[in-house]
Amino acid sequence: MSQQILDPSQAAAELTKYTSLDGLSVEQLLDPQLSGGLTYNDFLILPGFIDFSAHITSLESKITKNITLRTPLMSSPMDTVTETEMAISMALLGGIGIIHHNCSAEEQAEMVRKVKKFENGFIVDPVVLSPNHTVADVIAIKEKSGFCGIPITENGAMNSKLVGMVTARDIQFHDDETTPLSEIMTKDLVTAKKNITLAQANEILKTSKKGKLPIVDDQYHLVSLLARSDLLKNQEYPLASKSADSKQLLCGAAIGTRPDDKERLALLVEAGLDVVVLDSSQGNSVYQIEMIKWVKEKFPKLDVIAGNVVTREQAANLIAAGADGLRIGMGSGSICITQEVMACGRPQATAVHRVSEFARKFGVPTIADGGISNVGHIVKAVALGASAVMMGGMLAGTTESPGEYFYHEGQRLKRYRGMGSIDAMSNTSGKDGNAATKRYFSEGDTVKVAQGVVGNVIDKGSVRKFIPYLITGLQHSLQDIGCRSISEFKEAVYSGAVRFEKRTASAQLEGGVHGLHSYEKKLFQ
Ligand code: GDP
Ligand code: GDP
Ligand code: GDP
Ligand code: 5GP
Repeated sequence: MSQQILDPSQAAAELTKYTSLDGLSVEQLLDPQLSGGLTYNDFLILPGFIDFSAHITSLESKITKNITLRTPLMSSPMDTVTETEMAISMALLGGIGIIHHNCSAEEQAEMVRKVKKFENGFIVDPVVLSPNHTVADVIAIKEKSGFCGIPITENGAMNSKLVGMVTARDIQFHDDETTPLSEIMTKDLVTAKKNITLAQANEILKTSKKGKLPIVDDQYHLVSLLARSDLLKNQEYPLASKSADSKQLLCGAAIGTRPDDKERLALLVEAGLDVVVLDSSQGNSVYQIEMIKWVKEKFPKLDVIAGNVVTREQAANLIAAGADGLRIGMGSGSICITQEVMACGRPQATAVHRVSEFARKFGVPTIADGGISNVGHIVKAVALGASAVMMGGMLAGTTESPGEYFYHEGQRLKRYRGMGSIDAMSNTSGKDGNAATKRYFSEGDTVKVAQGVVGNVIDKGSVRKFIPYLITGLQHSLQDIGCRSISEFKEAVYSGAVRFEKRTASAQLEGGVHGLHSYEKKLFQ
């Protein structure tokens, strides 16, 4: 008997006759009985319905209980990935950088301080000089800190009477460095009164057409300073991750779990740290539990990201100790040989789902760390419950990553190394020991067992172009799936509305470029 052809108007009604939606729910996809451990490449997300444009999709997401970012992107605390420049750029572009700790505590704190000082609302602790200081002093500040808009007060400190202002233009053509500032400073100043709102002060700054606006109290004592360049930064980077009140960029840093890491953390907090990452390849330890409790007691306002974990049981211990966020991944990093050597770890897609599904019950956001090598992997990590992704290899080789470019066989490369590589574990620049050995619990060993390799990655250009590419890519992906925001997407995954499918080996081949003699893969323009 031939099949009856239905009228097109019955399409919706016909769908309701099926007992489930096409494809698999996330639970079915990751059913432990059936699937074994999955990686990002082992599955796809099925497309949904589009009735909105990609650019309206919101990528806002939490990285900890108390910190929400406009993009779910984090740079990894590795010494070939995140130092000052990367952390500034990540925050300007809506993510956050976590500064590595394979250096002295002082060096790490200085990096945090530079990130925090990069952009301001009211600068409450500006560099101030007195009329008796000289042009040479201003030049020295310019060389050390990069700015030279300096308010001049009677005694050269804050809360003293404002008597003048010296800026770049005042010293530009001044050859005699011994000239006292009293001779070159501008005395007739546009100022604003204390207690003015930031928005009002910004208006005065705009109309005064000056580079700086000193804020004074009733006695004309200097209380803070406003910089015009900050208005431009705010305009140029609308997604920037900033503190609501200070308007300073958010900055994270990693530490270990040894006693001297407590002193390190105190320096980082003094420098303005917003979030600390307890950096361990296996976070479920008595040391970490003790450290989380100590940090929460000592610095109650500081959010703690604990980890790394890949199982519910590991997660439960760290959640109970007070973690504000969890970092997920063991052995999935691009430079990592942990799974090979230790026989420990978990395929990343399964790890992200299992931990996130559990942590969600406690309102603890999770970060998928390692193994992200394209936009699709970010979308999949979020689909499996992660609130954000942490990237190492993806961001290595950019202009903002530490290290110099070099040429090898005609290609421009930068070094990228695992923090568990022999190379990283042999760095002794930190006076209080090596951070990399601590991450892998091997500081007492006479033989160092590597858990990572040293490699090179190709020049990727600036993250100022690369991150906007990731953002736009993510928005288009969410549009294909039919979700207007990350939060809507995650809800739709857990309710079973977003569907998945496993990919066979041949499906993976089909999904890649194939059948061409040669081709060029240009990802964005
Ligand atoms: P300047 O004209 O040479 O002072 O430099 P810009 O105005 O171009 O840049 C100053 C930048 O440094 C702004 O983003 C400020 O928020 C930041 N900054 C941080 N601390 C200070 C400070 O103590 N004094 C000044 N002038 N700027 C600071
Ligand atoms: P925004 O306008 O979207 O940035 O909204 P916000 O609530 O962040 O800002 C409130 C006020 O602070 C506005 O007048 C902004 O122009 C101003 N503002 C935001 N970021 C900065 C900054 O980095 N420096 C200064 N001086 N003002 C800022
Ligand atoms: P610059 O472009 O970075 O040098 O900074 P400005 O535009 O702030 O300064 C230009 C000139 O104006 C310098 O000679 C400053 O000393 C002077 N200046 C800075 N602030 C004020 C102010 O409030 N009032 C007046 N009249 N001059 C100022
Ligand atoms: P990627 O983004 O390059 O795939 O992975 C980066 C992540 O790998 C880091 O955030 C960190 O969690 C992890 N990692 C960094 N160095 C090492 C290492 O030497 N060994 C292992 N096992 N993991 C590493």
